[in-house]
Amino acid sequence: MTLSGECFCGEIKYQIEGSLRDARSCHCSRCRKAFSSQASAYALVEPGHFNWVSGKHLLTSYIGGHGFGLQFCSKCGSTLCGIYNDEVHGVTLGCLNEDPEIEIGRHIYVGSKASWEIIPEGVPQYEEGERYNA
Ligand SMILES: [Zn+2]
Ligand SMILES: [Zn+2]
Repeated sequence: MTLSGECFCGEIKYQIEGSLRDARSCHCSRCRKAFSSQASAYALVEPGHFNWVSGKHLLTSYIGGHGFGLQFCSKCGSTLCGIYNDEVHGVTLGCLNEDPEIEIGRHIYVGSKASWEIIPEGVPQYEEGERYNA
């Protein structure tokens, strides 16, 4: 499978050779800020399957605790990927162009979700989850 993704303005593009895994949505207060949304929507990419195609010079990084961070477009603000120790760790599902043929398989940190959010039923929910994995 080949997947591509890009930011809102289209300057930054990437390609993934292979499939994504472990799609999840984290509802913690940090992810709400980082993703400007009710939760993250994020899946892991195998190391070495990810390549930037264009616009890499526009990427800005924000590194949080423990070596985990996010990279986003400095022009339009889209959050494109998560990095761990300078390697791409996963991608935000919202910036994918194609159907990744996976679904969000778990909702984590639902114990700290926003009061205004209603989480869909039928998908496993966890009060907490692993830290620093978006
Ligand atoms: Zn952009
Ligand atoms: Zn989170």
